[in-house]
Amino acid sequence: MAAMTEVPYFVQVAWVVLDDHTVKRCDRCYPDGWCPRVAVSRARVLAWRKVRHLR
Ligand SMILES: [Zn+2]
Repeated sequence: MAAMTEVPYFVQVAWVVLDDHTVKRCDRCYPDGWCPRVAVSRARVLAWRKVRHLR
């Protein structure tokens, strides 16, 4: 419960984007599977995790 409220909104949005891409593609996805939305979301989650572990 407490852990969920600690997750910033932009990280929650990033998780939704990543979750969506496990089952389907969006209109920004490249034919080779790379997607700018996934790239941004992954970077956000990784950056947030890094900050979290530093605390
Ligand atoms: Zn996509």
